[in-house]
Amino acid sequence: MTVRLVVVGGGPAGTQAATWGARLGAEVTVVEKEVLGGAANLWDCIPSKAMIATGGVMALSRRSRYMGLDELTPSLDFAALRARNAEIEARLKGTIRAQLESQGVRLLDGCGRLKGPHDVVVETSDGRVVELDADAIVVCTGSRPRIPEFAAPDGERVLTTRDAYPPPQLPSHLCIVGSGVTGVEFTHMFSSFGCEVTLVVSRQQVLPSKDAEVAAALEDDFLARGVHLLKGARASDICRVGDGVVVECTDGRKVSASHALLCIGAVPNSDGLGLDAAGVDVDAGGYVPINHHGQTNVKHIYAAGDLSGKLPLASVAAMQGRKVAEHVMGLQVREHRHLDYDKAASAIFTEPEIADVGLAEADAFATGRKVRVTKVPFAATAKALIEGDTRGFVKIVSDPWTGAVLGGSIVGPSAAELISVLALAVTANLRVNDIVESLLVHPALSEALAEAAE
Ligand SMILES: Cc1cc2nc3c(=O)[nH]c(=O)nc-3n(C[C@H](O)[C@H](O)[C@H](O)COP(=O)(O)OP(=O)(O)OC[C@H]3O[C@@H](n4cnc5c(N)ncnc54)[C@H](O)[C@@H]3O)c2cc1C
Repeated sequence: MTVRLVVVGGGPAGTQAATWGARLGAEVTVVEKEVLGGAANLWDCIPSKAMIATGGVMALSRRSRYMGLDELTPSLDFAALRARNAEIEARLKGTIRAQLESQGVRLLDGCGRLKGPHDVVVETSDGRVVELDADAIVVCTGSRPRIPEFAAPDGERVLTTRDAYPPPQLPSHLCIVGSGVTGVEFTHMFSSFGCEVTLVVSRQQVLPSKDAEVAAALEDDFLARGVHLLKGARASDICRVGDGVVVECTDGRKVSASHALLCIGAVPNSDGLGLDAAGVDVDAGGYVPINHHGQTNVKHIYAAGDLSGKLPLASVAAMQGRKVAEHVMGLQVREHRHLDYDKAASAIFTEPEIADVGLAEADAFATGRKVRVTKVPFAATAKALIEGDTRGFVKIVSDPWTGAVLGGSIVGPSAAELISVLALAVTANLRVNDIVESLLVHPALSEALAEAAE
């Protein structure tokens, strides 16, 4: 009997669940209320990285003299930036739609809600109500920016990340509240555009959950370009004053700026989804708890992506979607491996770029685990000199007895690409010697990886 799989939410989790479900023989329907590709393509990963890429070209042009060129002075064109974001999003949406249609997936534009354990009701964008019977359901409706009680985003001066691609005007002074991954990426983006930026940092280091050395490398770069770091500060009020904003902190410190941007995390889109009607548990934060197969407490209802409260990354959401489809279709034992969240690679698109995977040095020491840590600066490679950017390093954490690669961090140009080597090593249980004995390219930044593995 053909399995009827209904997927609510067409972001990375939903589109991968649908693709793999269809490939494995299910009859799949995807319900998406906004844009195929999800918040990831419309609001989060893609427009932010597109604007960071523009800032990167501006930063590169500031180094033009050093590269043997006359000085270049590009100026920003916000209309062109907006058009570029829209074009990228449309191309990605088109590719996803074509891929799903080629697999025979039924696409429904509309808002989905669970009416019972096997029933999904869809209010379509053209005003119809469609009822779907399902043998299995995947809910993957993502998350949205968290807005604290003390702030009232208005899309003009008090912004969420969704208002920033780009905002109506280039801020003359942007105060960013929150110094996690999103906060530091936007700090990098707007300071590369030439804006004055103040970053409100609630602890004593940006990126509080990251390796201290990695965070310090980023802070050094921020300070060198004139970013103000307000450390140990918790925002408690944001109000509009005249043509600007004032951000007030609990200890009385105040920042007057032209704009404020909230980067203080996300809340799951679980409200109004009918989870209670289907008997699906939701935790106190609104996330949907899952087991290692992605199943909720109702075994044929799965959750994936940000809604599941695991690692909020598009790459993880996509893999969760695939794993869920495999489980729905009964692909088990040898072909189906559980997701190991501890082995997920992640990157922060700042300058220098930051990426890591697996066990962090600090976590190894905190648990008393003996590890070997080797570190090589990019300045030691010819390629960094050629590119005119010698910042950063590669750090590899390995097992001192077996040589198994346990984790690593990379700070520097192309870190997000280079981390793939360490991600593969961690996932495939490779040893440092496997990296050393690979015949890599010269001159290339990957030579720092081979040296760190020595
Ligand atoms: C600023 C920012 C930058 C980021 N950059 C990166 C990055 O560089 N790399 C990375 O890996 N991650 C990044 N992330 C995280 C990433 O965006 C999320 O982890 C990812 O989007 C989660 O995918 P998802 O499929 O769970 O949800 P989403 O991408 O949010 O998709 C959910 C979809 O469900 C739809 N939906 C919601 N409710 C309903 C309903 N009732 N019926 C029908 N459809 C519904 C929504 O319209 C949406 O399209 C970033 C996040 C932010 C905020």
